[in-house]
Amino acid sequence: MNQDELFKKVISHAKEYGFIFQSSEIYDGMQAIYDYGQNGVELKKNIRDYWWKAMVQMHENIVGLDSAIFMHPTTWKASGHVDAFNDPMIDNKDSKKRYRADVLLEDYAEKLRQKADKECAKAAKRFGESFDEAMFRETNPRVKGYMDEANETMARMAKGLTDGNLEDVKALIEEKGIACPISGSKNWTEVRQFNLMFATQMGSTADGASEVYLRPETAQGIFVNFLNVQKTGRMKIPFGIAQTGKAFRNEIVARQFIFRMREFEQMEMQFFVRPGEEMKWYEYWKEARIKWHKALGLGDENYRFHDHDKLAHYANAAADIEFNFPFGFKELEGIHSRTDFDLKAHEEFSGKKLQYFDPEINKNYVPYVVETSIGLDRMFLAILSAALKEETLEDGSSRTVLKVPMALAPVKVAVLPLLKKDGLPEIARDILKELQLDHNCQYDEKDAIGKRYRRHDAIGTPVCITVDHQTKEDDSVTLRNRDTMQQERIKIKDLATTINALISLKSLLKD
Ligand code: ATP
Repeated sequence: MNQDELFKKVISHAKEYGFIFQSSEIYDGMQAIYDYGQNGVELKKNIRDYWWKAMVQMHENIVGLDSAIFMHPTTWKASGHVDAFNDPMIDNKDSKKRYRADVLLEDYAEKLRQKADKECAKAAKRFGESFDEAMFRETNPRVKGYMDEANETMARMAKGLTDGNLEDVKALIEEKGIACPISGSKNWTEVRQFNLMFATQMGSTADGASEVYLRPETAQGIFVNFLNVQKTGRMKIPFGIAQTGKAFRNEIVARQFIFRMREFEQMEMQFFVRPGEEMKWYEYWKEARIKWHKALGLGDENYRFHDHDKLAHYANAAADIEFNFPFGFKELEGIHSRTDFDLKAHEEFSGKKLQYFDPEINKNYVPYVVETSIGLDRMFLAILSAALKEETLEDGSSRTVLKVPMALAPVKVAVLPLLKKDGLPEIARDILKELQLDHNCQYDEKDAIGKRYRRHDAIGTPVCITVDHQTKEDDSVTLRNRDTMQQERIKIKDLATTINALISLKSLLKD
């Protein structure tokens, strides 16, 4: 399967097996809005739990919060979202397709970097053992040419966007000869800024309703509650506040399935630190977060850091953790050193002090913040696309298996009576009842056993338990492992311990 085919397969598999449906499908759907089906909702919840446990439960100095989606409109003035939460858009006059100008240029730079990588790979082959890649990158004119052009393009774009010089961003697109992938033409409109917040009215229009926004990030709910949590929780700096919840962005280009949605879920943590110590904590969280990802076993080579070329208005350092999606390496999580920008802005706009008295240095200050921010839906897509496998078996047949990390699987155990008679269903239901206390399990008696195994492979169920006639004689069942397909005979009383060892979140969290 090439990457394009894999992506198509991921989308169709997600629908066929009840993971993700297009929203309002019977009315032909809504672009970039999706619903999670019976298996999707479980997988999503398990990813959220893994995050929550790792961030909140495993840290003495991090606590949770669940703030409202609607916030006072001034929040978004203070945060800069009303004035600056824009994406630069550009339309192709021939295809009438709309693009993000920065994405067109980023893709262009990425292609140059890929060309440089290819040259290096070729040279590595040619020179063998003695190849010094760093030296080659520094001295080979072709590689240097590609990299210099990529860096210059990004730097000029960043300057154009920071200075609001959108004419130059357009000029850059034209100079680089970037064409619309659909029409192939270079007939572009001007670059314009487009605010991504959804606005709506609160209260009836008759009595002067006020305009409110659907939050575009969960972070501001944390900032405005900083003192509430610090005081009532008697939190000492450094400490963090974490929350998960919906965010809304009117994305200009909403493509790539659940990668870029208009309604999505974030998992964010704001870590409040002493001014001057933010870089130490920024490095700490970069390290901690990449470890959290790699513990899932989706392949270390699928992650990389990308330092931002253009820093957001609030940041003094920022990096993305990128994942190798079927459409290439793209942002999965952002780690940002946000300085004291947000708290200071809320002080200014609200007229309330948002400061911390640090007893160790006997000083009041506005804390600095390091943020980790990950999209739950993107994480879902990362897992789904890395886990979906077509395997050819020894007997020449094939199977589709979803090798999601076992601890995150939507259904942990399937209990299957071999036949629908002879008392086997009753025994199976008794086993189910016991295991249900700890895990999401399913009972399935329809179709031949092989077909049932395949059905559970396709949704990633780690363990299938089969009850047969021998069970009646010696209280043993067969336990089939999703990944190895090996079956072992095991006593019913030992089931819980064996299953827990396979699917527990503990091993992931301990790492
Ligand atoms: P991008 O550059 O892809 O638009 P961003 O830099 O604007 O993302 P942040 O504001 O840093 O994203 O948001 C934090 C995280 O939220 C991202 O790393 C991503 O995982 C997730 N996210 C952001 N926008 C969307 C979206 N439209 N759909 C799904 N997830 C999103």
